[in-house]
Amino acid sequence: MDCPKAALFDLDDTLAESFKAPSEAMVARVARLAELMPVAILSGASYERMKEEILDPILGLGKTVRLYAFPDSASIAYTLVDDAWQEAYSLAFTPEQLERIRSIIEECVSQHDIASGMPYEPQILLEKTQVRYAALGLNATEADKNTWDPDQVKRRALKTLLDQKLPECEVLIGGRTTIDITRKGVDKAYGVRWFSEYLHIPAQEMFYVGDALYEGGNDQVVISTGIQARQTSGPEETLSILDELLAIAQ
Ligand SMILES: [Mg+2]
Repeated sequence: MDCPKAALFDLDDTLAESFKAPSEAMVARVARLAELMPVAILSGASYERMKEEILDPILGLGKTVRLYAFPDSASIAYTLVDDAWQEAYSLAFTPEQLERIRSIIEECVSQHDIASGMPYEPQILLEKTQVRYAALGLNATEADKNTWDPDQVKRRALKTLLDQKLPECEVLIGGRTTIDITRKGVDKAYGVRWFSEYLHIPAQEMFYVGDALYEGGNDQVVISTGIQARQTSGPEETLSILDELLAIAQ
């Protein structure tokens, strides 16, 4: 491949096992690449988690990096200004919208008892720019997360209901057990387009790595931007993709 001018990565099941911190080897490689080109991380994860598990470890290596963060499904973005993270944009809900979304989720979930059969309480997490419905809560085992809705049938049924009642929102199917709700038109593709304009680099000259570029996957939306996209089977394969990028970039 030709050397891209910027690299973008999904977090869960791409740079790290789902809801876990990336390995030291991964942190070191992403940091090295970010010395050579702008690097962005786009994820449904919160800013707090992203900062603790990947951004701070990268900065802790003391290198001069060009690093960007798009947490909460790219509904908010951060850039580094004088070694401090600063909001670049924030597509926030009003407190009234957040409450409305919460009550509509509760109403729709009660119509479809989608978590039945699993010993977990679902959770609704309200962030300022994203609402996350975690069908199995936050402490489900990996095995339960893998078997609960592998074909997305349960979450697609819930999404259909939510789409009808929340026309002002984007209802996104997350990794394995979640649904993320942002403002209309806000998803990872929004983040890619913003980043492309911000850097003055056409999306076609940027490279995206994600585990869910397949039909219905939560990385699939980025394809519409024209970005070069590479599917990964998980962190192990991502390490080799990073090696490939490092080899052509330096
Ligand atoms: Mg992922």
